[in-house]
Amino acid sequence: MKFDVAIIGGGLAGLSCGIRLAEQGKRCAIISAGQSALHFSSGSLDFLSQRTDGSTIEKPLDALAELGADHPYVRLGGEAVSRMAKQAEAMLADCGLHFFGSIEQNHRRVTPLGTLRATWLSPKEVPVAPIGGELPWRRVAVVGIEGFLDFQPQLAAASLAERGVEATIEYLHLPALDGLRKNPSEFRATNISRVLDLPENLALLAQEVARLAEDVDAVILPACVGLEDSNAIETLREHAGKPVMLVPTLPPSLLGIRLHQALRRRFLQLGGQFMPGDTVLKAELEGQRVARIYTRNHTDIPIEAQQVVLASGSFFSNGLIAEFERIFEPVFGLDVLDVPERPQWTHQNMFVPQPYLRFGVKADETLRGTVNGQSLDNLYVIGAVLGGYDPLQQGCGAGVSLVTALYAAERILTQAEVAQ
Ligand SMILES: Cc1cc2nc3c(=O)[nH]c(=O)nc-3n(C[C@H](O)[C@H](O)[C@H](O)COP(=O)(O)OP(=O)(O)OC[C@H]3O[C@@H](n4cnc5c(N)ncnc54)[C@H](O)[C@@H]3O)c2cc1C
Repeated sequence: MKFDVAIIGGGLAGLSCGIRLAEQGKRCAIISAGQSALHFSSGSLDFLSQRTDGSTIEKPLDALAELGADHPYVRLGGEAVSRMAKQAEAMLADCGLHFFGSIEQNHRRVTPLGTLRATWLSPKEVPVAPIGGELPWRRVAVVGIEGFLDFQPQLAAASLAERGVEATIEYLHLPALDGLRKNPSEFRATNISRVLDLPENLALLAQEVARLAEDVDAVILPACVGLEDSNAIETLREHAGKPVMLVPTLPPSLLGIRLHQALRRRFLQLGGQFMPGDTVLKAELEGQRVARIYTRNHTDIPIEAQQVVLASGSFFSNGLIAEFERIFEPVFGLDVLDVPERPQWTHQNMFVPQPYLRFGVKADETLRGTVNGQSLDNLYVIGAVLGGYDPLQQGCGAGVSLVTALYAAERILTQAEVAQ
């Protein structure tokens, strides 16, 4: 099987890179083993939210200078990072995704606990406030679903009340959910949405939400509606005549999955080939080039591509593997950033930044992976498999994935132009 570009991993990074390349006419394949971090994410995209001292970053591009030398943003330089961030915003819009926010200015989103967290882009249904400002409503109804454990309205309402918002706690009692409710392991956001998105159930939900909205300025629901029907939330708003907002739940995250589906749909529409449920097991090199890669489902038919992109994620997605005394990248055996002795991998206090979150693959200044210090000519490394940053503490996970994905795509496209 021959492609212009083979991408290993179909999360935010792999799909974004594939979309950009496919838009420019490249024949791309994405091989993706399993679910990506998006399935577990809030659906909001962080670019750079927090300094090491815990203070909130308002203008992320202005804060790039404060980052350490290993951070992927610093490796690529401010001009490229700023350009790729704007390109990412345009790419997401081309995928039919509607986000609030811009790279010029972070905002804060409401978390499932009702606290506010700085971020770059939020789905337009998510309640947001300016940095240093408050939510635009004085009275809200925070609505839970009876028996649904992945969102607790009491916690959210208590945190909102601390911010001066009068938050009442309500519950939905829709009989349509009784079937699911009998089995707690099935009573999850995505399954609930599959039921609520049905027109007959959405009409009943709209009536109930309109009733709950009567005495408040806005209604906050757990993100359990609108997975299949992106207009569902508009229907609820029209009936209520008030803002109806969604907050992410515990995984599976409807807002993250919806983002994944939109990216994947766009990649396929552009003619990309997506190979779900397959794993790249090994690669063969010829000199400093990746010549062939072999997958679990195609053990004897290698995939050959002029360029290969590694977007296999971090430990969470098996892009990095931790054994007792070593951390390694399993497909190419790429160099990883310096790893300290085992006792220093974690911090005993679980509330402080954990050193292992910064572990990852080393890349040269053009994001090519290296083996024994030598760059591989046609292998780019993007997204969470890269080391040198802490997506949780710094709040930069999605930003690094998008910026490095689009940067690698640009390098590949420029190289192809030069070769012609
Ligand atoms: C639980 C969780 C929640 C997060 N929430 C947020 C959030 O709310 N906002 C935010 O900005 N960031 C969040 N992040 C940070 C997140 O890392 C990035 O936002 C981003 O989604 C990472 O994308 P990625 O494509 O680099 O990696 P991933 O999303 O991890 O995707 C890697 C993909 O590669 C596949 N893969 C791995 N090895 C192979 C192989 N050998 N062959 C084929 N396929 C392979 C995996 O199955 C997976 O599908 C979160 C991270 C985690 C772990």
